[in-house]
Amino acid sequence: MNLHEFQAKELFRAHAVGVPDGVVARSPGQALAATRQLGGERWVVKAQVHAGGRGKAGGVVACDDPAQVRAEAARLLGSRLQTAQTGADGLPVDAVLVEAPTAIARELYLGLLVDRAAERIAIMASTSGGMDIEAVAARDPSALVLVHVDPVVGLMPWQGRRIGFALGLDKPQRAALQQMLQGLYRLFVDSDASLVEINPLVVTAEGGLLALDAKVNLDANALYRQPALEALRDSGQEDPRELAAAAHQLNYISLDGNIGCMVNGAGLAMATMDLVKLHGGAPANFLDVGGGTTAERVAEAFKLVLSDPKVCAVLVNIFGGIVRCDLIAEGIIRAVRDVRIDVPLVVRLQGTKAAEGRALLADSGLELQTAGSLSEAADKVVAAAAGAGASTGSA
Ligand code: ADP
Ligand code: MG
Repeated sequence: MNLHEFQAKELFRAHAVGVPDGVVARSPGQALAATRQLGGERWVVKAQVHAGGRGKAGGVVACDDPAQVRAEAARLLGSRLQTAQTGADGLPVDAVLVEAPTAIARELYLGLLVDRAAERIAIMASTSGGMDIEAVAARDPSALVLVHVDPVVGLMPWQGRRIGFALGLDKPQRAALQQMLQGLYRLFVDSDASLVEINPLVVTAEGGLLALDAKVNLDANALYRQPALEALRDSGQEDPRELAAAAHQLNYISLDGNIGCMVNGAGLAMATMDLVKLHGGAPANFLDVGGGTTAERVAEAFKLVLSDPKVCAVLVNIFGGIVRCDLIAEGIIRAVRDVRIDVPLVVRLQGTKAAEGRALLADSGLELQTAGSLSEAADKVVAAAAGAGASTGSA
């Protein structure tokens, strides 16, 4: 689960990590009031969406007049902001953060994340702040300093010093960084975070350290013990299909391709996606309908896959181990009764009651292709998607 910048900055404040003064506003009037509350003569208006790259997309605007703050808030609020990190549809802007402007001397990068291979929290820092850190890492890995924190002893002062020297900080700044790192590490552990990122962390003109941006991702599997953080969820920023899937206890993740996949079991779902790729196609989603599923849930899952306008063909790949193939067939037939299916459908049913399932589908009058092996299924659906994509003019 992601937090908004203003929520992450609240957490930062609570952990003594310096951030600019700011007020969140949900209407142009509130944005205007924020300028009075903050005082000063200049402000920065920042669109609150669950994505970075806002600066380049017009989502971060410096203003030198309260009327301009109001106007920028009016422009952003209610709009959808598209950045390099959102899809083509962008994300809805329901709030803006009005901040005091910071005079920036240097822009640095600081990130904490779980390094699964090392089984530790890793702290990453770079003097190339304000840029796409993945690009920095790819171009010049030596520009990144990396320390791993021992979970038993915690973050050690020498580790903070090492990062401070690598960032070229002077003595008072290194001391400020120590305090900031301790706060961030505590925040990371206490809130079950999976990522805490400050890009940019700035050295101000006055020589202090300030987190100008704040990104916090939380481990969704730990939310049951983080009710206060879970309450910060903004489902308006999340994929509506993933939300609908969660409501039906389906494991669904939206992807960029055009082949809808309905599979049972996470392992088979991964293998199916690999096979689709191997045969030259691209999956539109990951979907695991689960083991002990019902016809209703299959129907919901099928509707979900079809509701994605990118989908040019659907592959149903079910291995009946715990789940019965006839139930899956019933679910598909039920779904098709509710929603029209106008894309090619390839079905592979194997295992428990597969023959019954295939018979149900054959009797339903539904237009579909069947496949025996995994490869055959992938081959057929990739060809079908290519044909359907060509006929509708989409790719
Ligand atoms: P994003 O990463 O989504 O583009 P940031 O919060 O990093 O958004 O802001 C983009 C840029 O805008 C920053 O690199 C910084 O140069 C500038 N900026 C952001 N907040 C402030 C602020 N309070 N004062 C001055 N400049 C700011
Ligand atoms: Mg940023």
